[in-house]
Amino acid sequence: MNIVKRKLLHWSWQYFQRENATSSGGKPVLYAKCKFCHQTYANNSDRLTTHLINKCEKIPPGIKTVLTRKYTAEHSEHLTANLAQV
Ligand SMILES: [Zn+2]
Repeated sequence: MNIVKRKLLHWSWQYFQRENATSSGGKPVLYAKCKFCHQTYANNSDRLTTHLINKCEKIPPGIKTVLTRKYTAEHSEHLTANLAQV
């Protein structure tokens, strides 16, 4: 009986820390904080991925290579799907 409720998160979240903050309007906001350079983003997986691959200056090169491959694979699937519809 040790079931943890988990939402399925994009793989980029592995490299971000989730942080709760409060917006100026008093609403709770979820932030993603890069584990490598501590840059924060509002919850948006596209931006997180782009950050890791293109913008992060502290990400170890080995991890960056792996993530770039993952990202490319994800996007080539989309391309193939798009082509199939034409
Ligand atoms: Zn970073």
